[in-house]
Amino acid sequence: MPITLDPTLRRELAARIRYYNDLGIYDFYRRDSDPASGDIQPEERESMTRRASAVEERLFENASSRPESTAADPSQALRTVREDLGDCTRCRLHKQGRKQIVFGVGSPRADLMFIGEGPGADEDEQGEPFVGRAGQLLNNMIKAMGLHREDVYIANIIKCRPPGNRTPERDECETCSPFLMRQIAVIKPKVIVALGAVAAKTLLAINAPMAELRGHWYDFRATKLAVTYHPAFLLRDPRQKKEAWKDLQMVMKELGMAIPAKGPQ
Ligand code: URA
Repeated sequence: MPITLDPTLRRELAARIRYYNDLGIYDFYRRDSDPASGDIQPEERESMTRRASAVEERLFENASSRPESTAADPSQALRTVREDLGDCTRCRLHKQGRKQIVFGVGSPRADLMFIGEGPGADEDEQGEPFVGRAGQLLNNMIKAMGLHREDVYIANIIKCRPPGNRTPERDECETCSPFLMRQIAVIKPKVIVALGAVAAKTLLAINAPMAELRGHWYDFRATKLAVTYHPAFLLRDPRQKKEAWKDLQMVMKELGMAIPAKGPQ
């Protein structure tokens, strides 16, 4: 007799399959279940966890083995990713008032990539990340490092503005982040700076307070990743700017850049 799936489970499965498809994975297999078994046994859970981590590894490898990542011209490769994204309707944000998709901006060959949370009202209006007040501060931070905005690449975990600028939901981040992974695989930055808790926690899959997350290097696959405060947070608490400057100094050192004495104003 055919089994009817619960509609919620069906939707979740469909979303999961789309997520894998976006990463280039199309082949799935089903393991026969043992009808005699009841709850998941500890060894089975351990083996599932091992397999899940292997799948996560494969997801990124798959993203980096997509055609765009080996294209000679990273601008063209980024255009391919943008075309695949299309007029995205993969998550609920497409029907919750977003005006446009905010893909990313900057040099496709950047050594340094900043990743924020998601577009706000100004970004949604202009189609470019970090163009509002927080963006002005990010520009000052970039300038204080002796760089121009055009030298780096700037993107967000999610590409559509959540209503009322609420924090993105986990499923929204999971649905959208494969495209960010593909952008990273194309650009191959030497260093990624995660701006704020949402970016840090999504990329690192660690749930810890910002004070613990920042000030260290993380290995994000083949790329070094540092965490610093989100510029919007720094606007609310300017005393933390000196801590953010320490994070950026750590980044400049890693990139072999001269370290200016003065931080962002
Ligand atoms: N905040 C973000 O996280 N990203 C933007 O693009 C703008 C504000």
